[in-house]
Amino acid sequence: MVRVIMLSPPGAGKGTHSKWLTLQTGATHISSGDLLRDEVARGSELGRQVADYTERGDLVPDELIFRILAPAVVAAARHTGGYVLDGFPRTMPQALRAAQFGADLALTSNAVIYLTAPEEELVSRLLDRALRDGRTDDTLGVIRHRLAVFAKETAPLVDYYRSRGILLELSTDRPEAEVQADLLDWLQARGLMPPTAGHARPDHAQPAGANATEDL
Ligand code: ADP
Repeated sequence: MVRVIMLSPPGAGKGTHSKWLTLQTGATHISSGDLLRDEVARGSELGRQVADYTERGDLVPDELIFRILAPAVVAAARHTGGYVLDGFPRTMPQALRAAQFGADLALTSNAVIYLTAPEEELVSRLLDRALRDGRTDDTLGVIRHRLAVFAKETAPLVDYYRSRGILLELSTDRPEAEVQADLLDWLQARGLMPPTAGHARPDHAQPAGANATEDL
């Protein structure tokens, strides 16, 4: 079963591809942003604590994120045995804590998908989404800030996971179907998804690092 981390700047398609992967695999989709927005909408104590951060486009403190995420990941593992983590981890301390947590509970992730697109494309997609979904953090100023926060806090995770051999970098500046075909190929080559009929890759085509140590 896949236990995947989706790593991407805002607007690169993290939500879209996470939902697609969830449908393909039967793993549980866990979106940190959705969980936070639910708390805010419900007006819970936790929601009140996180609202200022999410509205400004700042990261919510790691402790609060863990309080929300940990029960969801444990429940996911119990129900489906797999997860697609959409929006977490987002800082090095979160990644290190998640690795520890994953090791303790035998829930280590086995793939990290890093989605990319040119910055102006990201901005224009998020402004389009603002018209459709009305998210309060999809304004130009907050979008620029979220992109800067990604570059500073989250981008270092790319090298961290790449050095562990579990990272796939995918450009999403092309049709969704192409992105998904590449993603499927890679997961199948690593034995994380069953081969599609007539689409199996021979063993010798396994990419380098296919047997790398798992890490969350
Ligand atoms: P996007 O990727 O478009 O910024 P998300 O829905 O993933 O959207 O996140 C929205 C906001 O929720 C972030 O700007 C941040 O304030 C908060 N958030 C989500 N995930 C995390 C996390 N792992 N750590 C800290 N803050 C988070």
